[in-house]
Amino acid sequence: MQGQMMNQPLLISSLLVHAERHHGNQEIVSRRTEGDIHRYSYRDLAERARRMANALERLGVGFAQRVGTLAWNGYRHLELYYGASGAGVVLHTLNPRLHPDQLVWIADDAEDQVMFFDLTFLPLIEATASRFRTVRHFVLMADRAAMPKDSAIPGLICYEDLLEQASDDYDWPMFDENTASSLCYTSGTTGNPKGVLYSHRSTILHAYGSALPDSCGLSARDVVLPVVPMFHVNAWGTPYAALMVGAKLVFPGPALDGKSLYDLFEAEGVTFSAGVPTVWQGLLAHVEENGLQFSSMNRTVIGGSACPPAMIEAFEGKYGVQVLHGWGMTEMSPLGTVCALKPGQDRLSEDAQMRIKRKQGRAIFGVDMKIVDAEGAELPWDGETSGELLVRGPWILQSYFNRADTPLIDDRAGLGWFPTGDVATIDADGFMQITDRTKDVIKSGGEWISSIDLENIAMGHPAVAMAACIAAHHPKWDERPLLLVMPKPGKSVTRDEILACFDGRVPRWWLPDDVVFVDSIPLGATGKMQKNKLRETFRGYRLPTI
Ligand code: AMP
Repeated sequence: MQGQMMNQPLLISSLLVHAERHHGNQEIVSRRTEGDIHRYSYRDLAERARRMANALERLGVGFAQRVGTLAWNGYRHLELYYGASGAGVVLHTLNPRLHPDQLVWIADDAEDQVMFFDLTFLPLIEATASRFRTVRHFVLMADRAAMPKDSAIPGLICYEDLLEQASDDYDWPMFDENTASSLCYTSGTTGNPKGVLYSHRSTILHAYGSALPDSCGLSARDVVLPVVPMFHVNAWGTPYAALMVGAKLVFPGPALDGKSLYDLFEAEGVTFSAGVPTVWQGLLAHVEENGLQFSSMNRTVIGGSACPPAMIEAFEGKYGVQVLHGWGMTEMSPLGTVCALKPGQDRLSEDAQMRIKRKQGRAIFGVDMKIVDAEGAELPWDGETSGELLVRGPWILQSYFNRADTPLIDDRAGLGWFPTGDVATIDADGFMQITDRTKDVIKSGGEWISSIDLENIAMGHPAVAMAACIAAHHPKWDERPLLLVMPKPGKSVTRDEILACFDGRVPRWWLPDDVVFVDSIPLGATGKMQKNKLRETFRGYRLPTI
């Protein structure tokens, strides 16, 4: 017997319809690429998204075809999120930090029909326009006044003209909720990037999950500023979750330095933000140097790479901003776990609480996880045993775009588990802690050393800006940890001072065999340390212990 409830598909357009009807006056504030601050309401967004849907039709973009964006976080990008996906077109966000050759490859692979881009990327598009195989129209996301007089891009369209010429009369179509909605490529360390194709259903379910109280805990009273870019995993779903709950949205545009972010937080009364640790480093440095405090921000999700404990301590101890350490992947839409305490844990000592907060957290409903050994046998949740982390759930990828051949679902562990490539422990309360990527783990005499643990400890030293730990070849132990340290500007620190940080905090055999000071640590397009590059650079490095 079937239930007798309405069978209404979960569609992205329904978020917009809800937001317009129930929170029509709610504000969306954007720092524009043009430099000024732009404000309008959910009602305005809905009207312009309908125009966009009509405009795409006029440009000849059909159902399920892809349109590319190269854009910062801002209201025009949001109009494309809703105008394209709402009409059944697939929004393909490209990461402008990638190499131009890679961008062209990705747009070709996705068969993008139109490329929308911010003013910042005009030179990039001018240099590459002729190389895109499938792109028929280029649209500059700017006012008419900002349009170049004569551009090398044939038939360049002005975004505002495009909208002005389109009607705002549009009925969002109804279709199967499993229809593709957006596409984001993940750049692995080897081979070509792989496309992750989200659906309307997965996006809406992920938005519900991310808004839950022990997740991001979003409400209509929140002012949400996603620092995490809309060009990477849909800004962790915040553009959807905000409309679901009716929160005010604030977009930082291209200005991601500490001062610009802080000023916007304060001016707009931001209560909630989300970003990767490297961005918060800049913000914290600005706040510390200028003796500032946050007057409205009360919590932030930090993820994308391990959040150094020193950062959690600074946010919570000095500034009263709760850190929600989160973990996820492009393939997971991205949220998997968030570290929110369980009942009674808030009565533990500060040290004990901090030990929990360092972990990546508990699975939110919608994500199931387990750790397995090399044969796929499930490992115990004792907080000590580490193994490869597998996940499954309705917002986790089944197969890559255009790559039906990629072996994906892990058959060692039974049907339907996605191998994350992360190594983790899970404790008896279900708190998961990432110890490494499978590729980054250091195998010393057959035993694993967690590079993340060593980095976290080194980054707790006040003179250290960033630290990366990689495996260096050792004739007896196979691999031993080599710690690369980038000091903060104007600060100095010695090798012995760094090594002293590890005293009593890790087993003696985990101690790095050497510390090398470097001027910079290479970061990838999503702000993660590029350890493969570091391994390459230090390939022939001879440890002093040999
Ligand atoms: P991406 O798909 O580019 O977002 O990268 C996903 C990967 O980032 C994960 O598989 C992890 O290796 C890493 N990652 C994400 N969040 C965290 C975190 N909080 N701590 C450690 N690693 C993380």
